[in-house]
Amino acid sequence: MTRPVALVTGGSRGIGLGIARELAAHGFDLAINGLRPPADVQTVLDELAALGAGTRYIRLDVADTGAHDAAIDDVLGCFGRIDALVNNAGVAPSVRADILEMTPESYDRVMAINLRGPLLLSRAVAKRMLELVGAGRIDRGRIINVSSISATVASISRAEYCISKAGVAMATRLLAARLADEGIDVYEVRPGITATDMTAAVSEKYDRLIAEGLTVERRWGTPEDIGRAVAMLASGVLTYATGQVLTIDGGLTMPRL
Ligand code: NAP
Repeated sequence: MTRPVALVTGGSRGIGLGIARELAAHGFDLAINGLRPPADVQTVLDELAALGAGTRYIRLDVADTGAHDAAIDDVLGCFGRIDALVNNAGVAPSVRADILEMTPESYDRVMAINLRGPLLLSRAVAKRMLELVGAGRIDRGRIINVSSISATVASISRAEYCISKAGVAMATRLLAARLADEGIDVYEVRPGITATDMTAAVSEKYDRLIAEGLTVERRWGTPEDIGRAVAMLASGVLTYATGQVLTIDGGLTMPRL
């Protein structure tokens, strides 16, 4: 048997790299994706290979839906199978503007990368997974969408981001319902405040809020925290639970009195 294979979008740094590391530790070979040229991610590939994973770098803008099939062909040509798709790549608005000042360009950019691209990539990968399951090449397929607590927490200076993540939550449920009978499980992992390049610019604000008790666990989340949750789902440890949300936020969204 060949090893299971995961395609992790945005796997070249931040949460995606945390996910890739945990999947490597769980015995997965990895296709990781990003925007940068291959030479820029060679050290990341070397690190994952040192964990025992076969690796492939797929340079692709997830918003470029016309390039999805070629990217999937690349993964299948390299590894012969794809067991898990982790839709992790995502962006914050370039400018945190009040919802009344949000531009159409920013709305379109964030929605294209965070929602439209991942949904259509999921559709394309699911079709290939159905063929692989039908041919007995994989036991089950798994699609894991990385959303955010912003799927439910309203931030008026990042409306387009919140709306995109709320859409990811519904996309997860729709795909879970469509694919449950056909051997593909679909989950949503919902991170809280996590230390990456995305949050570096607002680290002082979050340091203060965390110290004041915003989260029950008074620390930042790490890419490894999210990686462990995704690896558990991708490995099939959690059963009879398709469509579920795993919130990894240190208790930020837990109602308290
Ligand atoms: P990050 O540190 O900014 O890393 C983003 C990753 O996505 C990089 O690998 C980047 O590739 C890739 N990427 C960006 N745009 C892309 C595109 N159009 N097509 C393909 N790849 C693209 O972000 P992060 O904090 O790890 O966030 C990862 C996911 O977690 C996002 O969906 C984000 O919304 C979500 N999230 C983050 C937090 C947080 O606090 N950090 C909280 C909740 C949810 P390059 O390296 O080539 O640039």
